[in-house]
This record gives sequence, C-alpha cells and structure tokens, in this order.
Amino acid sequence: MNERSITILQLYPRDMNIYGDNGNVLVLKKRLEWHGFTPIVVEYNPGDPFPDDIDIVVGGGGQDSGQGKIQDDLLRIGPTLQNLAQAGTPMLVICGLYQLFGHFFETQDGTRIEGISIFDAETYGKSERLIGNIVTHSEEFGNIVGYENHSGQTFLRGDTKPLAMVKTGAGNNTLDKHEGARKYNVIGSYLHGSLLPKNPKIADWMIAEAAKRKYGEFTPRNIDDHIAKAARRIAMKRPR
Ligand code: GLN
Repeated sequence: MNERSITILQLYPRDMNIYGDNGNVLVLKKRLEWHGFTPIVVEYNPGDPFPDDIDIVVGGGGQDSGQGKIQDDLLRIGPTLQNLAQAGTPMLVICGLYQLFGHFFETQDGTRIEGISIFDAETYGKSERLIGNIVTHSEEFGNIVGYENHSGQTFLRGDTKPLAMVKTGAGNNTLDKHEGARKYNVIGSYLHGSLLPKNPKIADWMIAEAAKRKYGEFTPRNIDDHIAKAARRIAMKRPR
C-alpha cells in the first residue's frame, strides 16, 4: 500500500473563503488520492500555531473586512510563508489573499492593508468592480477559466510575472491584460469559481511540485477528466 502523504495548509478558511474557494482544497485532496497519495488538510486561522511539514499552501478571497481581520496574523506568519515560498513550496492564493501576498491593498477609502511582499505587486481599490466570467491564457497551463469579483486592481513590478494574459474579462486591472502572478512556485490569481475544478492542470502541477520536493519524483496516474473538460467548455461559452 502506498502511504506517501502530502499536507495541505488552508490559510484562513474562516475569514478568507468566498465564491467556493474551498473547492480548491477539495480538488487537491481528491486528485492527490487519485495520484496515489494520502492527503492531509490542516486549517489555519488567526492565532493558531503554524504547523511544521507543510507541502502545499492554499488560500482564498475575502471581503475587505475579512482582509482587515487577518492582516495582523498574516504579517506575523509572513516570514514563515516567505521561507516556504523561497524553498519552492507550491502555493495558490486567490483574490483577497493574492492581494495580500503583494506589498499592500489600499482600499477605496485610503486604508492600507499591508501584505507580506512575496509578490512584487501593489493593489489599489477603485470605484469600478470587476465582475464576471473570465478566460485567460498561459503558455504553461493553456486556457484558464473562472469568475472574478474585485474592486482592487493589482499592478505587478520587478521579477513578478503574470500567471496568464486575459482573453475575456479584466484580470489584475483594466490596463495591462495581466491576470494573476507567478513567483517561485507561488501562484496568485483573481479567479474564483473555484479555480482548480475547472483547471485541473494547475492542480496537477501543484501536486507534482509538492511530490518532487518531498519524495524526489512524481509519476502521474491517468485521471478521467471528462467532467472537468465539459465544465471548462461550458464556462468558456458563458457571457461575461
Ligand atoms: N476585497 C477585495 C476586493 O474587492 C478582494 C475581493 C475578493 O476576494 N473577491 O478587491
């Protein structure tokens, strides 16, 4: 029997988990099983001790108020997350947490919610909300489909690259067609939906990186993705 385990840390499920972002954890759990691993999910909320031996980090979006609630705690664990990121731990952070993995999110009323600067990125709240279905494209993952709803507009700097370029929708902001961010093995994205059920390539990439780091290799198993493919097709046909 294969007893290789992979531990997923879910950041702030209580305050940062909207539009089905929890689905990203469910997909990683299920696909880890399908690839022959035993998944362990550890929920992390403000004030919890930060667990050892984390292989994957996942976090979701939240209202500005949710971001405010977790800010102090995030700044406290920021150096630990920074070390994990620099060591190559695969991470996926959506919308509200994506913004706080950059330098800051300045809300519309001028309040600055400080981030942990894993991404060289700044986010500014604007009066226009960017809402609707979105399709982007990346060389590595092909078309990425999801749903966005944010007032913050994010601008990437320095060596932080976009995850993808926008085909339909807004993405990081209304100006440069960038969507999301990529640095080390950390992915930030505005795409809810949730993201991984309709974009299993990203899930498998995270699993492969985690397995290679922990066990030195990854041999994917064949997974029947016809339902995910149908969901992608239908989502891509939906109007904005
Ligand atoms: N509160 C942030 C914004 O509006 C993030 C929203 C979200 O996570 N969906 O930009």
